[in-house]
Amino acid sequence: MLELLAGLGAAALIILLYYQSNLFPLVILAALFLVLLRFAGAKTPRFSPVGQSAPAGEFSFNQIGGQEVAKKELLEALDFVTKPQQIRHMGIRPLKGVMLVGPPGTGKTLLARAAAGYTGSSFISVAGSEFIEMYAGVGAQRVRQLFSSCRRKAMKERRNSAILFIDEIDILGGKRGRHSSHLEYDQTLNQLLVEMDGLGGKEDLHILVIGATNRPEALDPALLRPGRFDRVVQVDLPDLEGREQILKLHLHNKPVCKEVPLQKIARETFGFSGAHLESLANEAAILALRGGKKKIEEKHLMEAVDKVILGEKLERKPDPEELWRVAVHECGHALVSEALKPGSVSQVTITPRGKALGYVRHHPERDYYIYTLEHLEKKIAVLLGGAVSENLVLGSRSTGSLSDFNEAVKIAKKIIAAGLSSLGVVSIDDLPGARLHRTIQQLVGHREKWVTELLSTKIELIEEIARLVLEKEKISGEKLRRYLSAGDRAC
Ligand code: ATP
Repeated sequence: MLELLAGLGAAALIILLYYQSNLFPLVILAALFLVLLRFAGAKTPRFSPVGQSAPAGEFSFNQIGGQEVAKKELLEALDFVTKPQQIRHMGIRPLKGVMLVGPPGTGKTLLARAAAGYTGSSFISVAGSEFIEMYAGVGAQRVRQLFSSCRRKAMKERRNSAILFIDEIDILGGKRGRHSSHLEYDQTLNQLLVEMDGLGGKEDLHILVIGATNRPEALDPALLRPGRFDRVVQVDLPDLEGREQILKLHLHNKPVCKEVPLQKIARETFGFSGAHLESLANEAAILALRGGKKKIEEKHLMEAVDKVILGEKLERKPDPEELWRVAVHECGHALVSEALKPGSVSQVTITPRGKALGYVRHHPERDYYIYTLEHLEKKIAVLLGGAVSENLVLGSRSTGSLSDFNEAVKIAKKIIAAGLSSLGVVSIDDLPGARLHRTIQQLVGHREKWVTELLSTKIELIEEIARLVLEKEKISGEKLRRYLSAGDRAC
């Protein structure tokens, strides 16, 4: 704006000079105008204040449904941007990078945008694929340009912080030496590492790099080492409550019948990401319009669920029988865990996480450096709880216990190798395979017998809790314990 005014002023002066007019009153007016401008400018701080909610027009965390854990973890990390003085005063190393990890469409980009709004930072977003070219050196040059344009943007917008969001960072930051044209890939990643190492020096501008990926295993370990992407925030598929919130967010600008049971729709959308839910709200509005209705009704939303599943090729709609099995399995783990260590379960859920269809979150244990036989046997028992529970309640087992068994066998081998088994002190490498196998079977078999005895007295309780988990998708450890104590009284 200022540049435009200056340009116009200069043009007017040249025209007036050309016609030899009296310029004195004009010069006075221009001087007055400049003084006024200076005063007006002095009222705006040189840099926008940080740590405030997003100014109008900027994206905020309230516009993201669910993802409470991810939001909390990200907000904690943003303290580094919002409280630079305190961080410096305490001599804390500035945070340079946060890695958002999770399936596609779960809101990673939204979280990064909200972080920029929350911290009053400039926001630049790029995708990893934009850096990779056939010619060596081009990607590295682009990385250099990216960081300098980030600095320029922040200066221009008069901000003292900037958030640089790199989506699909695994393309740019995959393990080095793996690609056929690896020179280009490696140089690009090396340049990113160099740029990140250079951050947090004496410059006034704080640049925070937020990376996003759904393939964390493909990342080069150098990226995740302390001092680079210090924080890893898991952004999972939303649970029942999260899905309801996301639906509300995407329906709020659409006419919806009051009677629409959003919780029911949320229940029907198990496994949907935020992007699927946004598409669902959109499809429902289109269906209502096509049907000549003024408002979206329940039937439109239900039809849209199928449309999204078929259209977006979601792997498949989860089978209720399968979900019931997962709930029974997880309850088995949880009950054994509570029996062996009361208060140990933090949450039981059937919302998929990574490759698991459901999981039991335990309260973090303290770090152990050595384990007793008793401790290891308890671990095996908890691992077997899922399969035993399936057997008792459903009369059969499933492949859902595969990773539990693998883990149980690993622990059994550890017991044998440490000389804690009936074999005494042995070299596990010199042990005949059949003998090793028999001892593992013995160790695991004893635990299995014990778990079966424990759970066979609690079949009804397992079913009751599994029904609750199926309905709510997750229950807290406290709620589980309330049920368990009520169950004990009933016994
Ligand atoms: P990708 O990994 O494919 O880049 P992403 O995790 O970055 O995906 P976004 O781009 O943030 O996903 O989300 C895509 C769209 O899905 C958003 O524009 C929004 O409409 C919707 N969406 C996703 N998650 C949420 C959420 N938690 N709350 C509200 N809307 C969401």
